[in-house]
Amino acid sequence: MIRITQLQVQVDHKIIINRLDLNVEAGSTHAVMGPNGSGKSTLAYALIGHPAYTVTAGSILLGGENIVNLSPDKRAQKGLFLSFQQPPSIPGIDVLTFLKEAHNACTRIAMEVEQFRLLAEECTHRINSKTDLLYRKLNDGFSGGEKKQLEMIQLLLLRPKVVILDEIDSGLDIDALKHVAAGIAYAKQENPDLAVVIITHYQHILRSIVPDVVHIMCDGAIVESGNAQLAYDLEQKGYDAYRS
Ligand code: ADP
Ligand code: MG
Repeated sequence: MIRITQLQVQVDHKIIINRLDLNVEAGSTHAVMGPNGSGKSTLAYALIGHPAYTVTAGSILLGGENIVNLSPDKRAQKGLFLSFQQPPSIPGIDVLTFLKEAHNACTRIAMEVEQFRLLAEECTHRINSKTDLLYRKLNDGFSGGEKKQLEMIQLLLLRPKVVILDEIDSGLDIDALKHVAAGIAYAKQENPDLAVVIITHYQHILRSIVPDVVHIMCDGAIVESGNAQLAYDLEQKGYDAYRS
């Protein structure tokens, strides 16, 4: 579904990611684990097309099409979804208005306001969240857990083909993590072909969302891949054991 080949990414003329290969098949869940500063968020931003992160070599194929030269909105329309590690707060924007605009832009389905409101409430119920989130300002005064719940509501509304979750577990307590796990489980149930990439520092989230493949990333490259057991081995050995 998404095939990354020999990817090189530069930020500020500095190479952060080098010769990275990653192939995530339709319907599979992969975890990318790495220490702070290993380039995990850089990978996520390069995939979605953040303008500060320049792809200087390699390719990113989404359903067979190279998306490297597409703008982020085009990538989203083609089914790529990135949940931010730190979603920004925009006090001037209503959550529901924001969601409706995003839904409209991605799916190109123009819904009536009331119809969309009901859909957004339904998605909120799917992750066992409270619908009052929908009637606030975008991430304004949201707790870390509420921000991530809103990311999951967006995921269910936009129905992507590939989901990248960048440290969705950072700063979340166990209850907040349950909303995230419920969102992924529901999205997978709705679309069994959904490809999921969970970027994380800790293996804890991988107990609720069990990956088919685990990759270890150090210094901008994938240094080891294996099954779900690798995450537990990593917990025992630490990242240093995998550094070259
Ligand atoms: P991780 O998400 O694994 O913690 P990052 O991708 O955030 O790692 O960072 C990897 C490296 O890239 C770090 O050395 C970081 O300082 C550098 N980096 C990331 N984004 C930027 C940026 N916008 N400007 C300058 N350096 C950056
Ligand atoms: Mg990061």
